[in-house]
Amino acid sequence: MLQTAADHGILSFIAQWKRERQEPVSAFIYDMRQLREHAARCVRELPADCRLFYAMKANPARPILECLAPIVHGFEAASIGEVRRIREVSADKPIIFGGPGKKDAEIQEALELGVMLLHAESLLELRRISHRAAALGVTARVLLRVNLRASFPEATLVMAGKPTQFGIDEVDIPEAIALARSLPHLSLEGFHLHSISNNLDASLHARLIAVYRDRVQQWQERFGLTLRYLNAGGGFGISYTDLNRVFDWPGFVSGLGREIAARPLPGIEMLFEPGRYLAAACGYYATEVTDLKCNHGQHYAILRGGSHHFRLPGAWQHSHPFEIVPVERWDYPFPRPEVRDVTVVVAGELCTPKDVLARDVAVKRLRVGDVLLFHYAGAYGWTISAHDFLSHAHPEHKYMDMEDAGNPR
Ligand SMILES: *Cc1c(COP(=O)(O)O)cnc(C)c1O
Repeated sequence: MLQTAADHGILSFIAQWKRERQEPVSAFIYDMRQLREHAARCVRELPADCRLFYAMKANPARPILECLAPIVHGFEAASIGEVRRIREVSADKPIIFGGPGKKDAEIQEALELGVMLLHAESLLELRRISHRAAALGVTARVLLRVNLRASFPEATLVMAGKPTQFGIDEVDIPEAIALARSLPHLSLEGFHLHSISNNLDASLHARLIAVYRDRVQQWQERFGLTLRYLNAGGGFGISYTDLNRVFDWPGFVSGLGREIAARPLPGIEMLFEPGRYLAAACGYYATEVTDLKCNHGQHYAILRGGSHHFRLPGAWQHSHPFEIVPVERWDYPFPRPEVRDVTVVVAGELCTPKDVLARDVAVKRLRVGDVLLFHYAGAYGWTISAHDFLSHAHPEHKYMDMEDAGNPR
């Protein structure tokens, strides 16, 4: 069950803001204790020979990386910029460097910064990686990213099973293996399969891992490979529409444990690289209602903020869940606008009709000056948004340890 703001010390942050400042509330607030405890629990509950990496694209803020660095096994980076950000936090934390379209300079610098593994996304990339490694006189350790041909109907975003730009088509894997083995400065250490995103079904996820292990075992036997890693990606889900629905992590890890016991792959470590599932729940987006209006019979709440801070609901086309934090302060000599028992569209301050964070939300009472607190804003929130569109001031980012950490399960 989702906690309310009252449990979190967010109320006192908002109250202090309203006491001390004139401008409307606009902030991302992160519960670092929730992040720490949640990540530690995920790591602790994994079966033996499994390692948890954080896919930092979900939230690359330095305090988040610093918080997770002592807990997770390593980080998954998708650009050289991300690799550098990790190296600012830790000189030696293991890094997996992936992403389509790696440039020569990125490959070279990643090797110089001592990444543990590179994900090769194409045959050309295998050649590029070996070429750069040769110039540096090193051997690059590589996983082949596979784009599987099976279909996975139940997840919201699927990255394989249908044509996508990611990875190497499963039918080309024999050729990729042959090429990887022929390249002198490259060591083929395993496979990477990230085929699913925002999946809420733990047993489906365990079945997916079984499919991965099956495939890897086949390639291993057919080509006589000695492998060290199977990276099974991320994609553990968060329900943005039904807050009571959570990914059953304990169920997933026990299914995974049974699968590993039933079909051991000796010498192979399993890697996981979730982003959303680790970082979503620790983050809140707090934004003040600056106007209320009724146009053509539809009620609108206008926010000090919007999709330039928090593009997630627009990107996913959903109504993002929020709670109303009532604020009593009203400094003006004129009446305070208020609606009661209506359905509102929650819109941002941008001059585009797309700037909507939630639609058709029934509210008991909403006043200008109240604060909306959006949940699950810790992953793919600020980082995916077009911050400078319209040149409004950026929100504040507050990282704090709260008292009663909520937990997404
Ligand atoms: C984005 C991404 C992840 C993280 O995905 P989540 O859905 O946030 O868990 C992991 N691996 C790869 C290759 C990715 O592109």
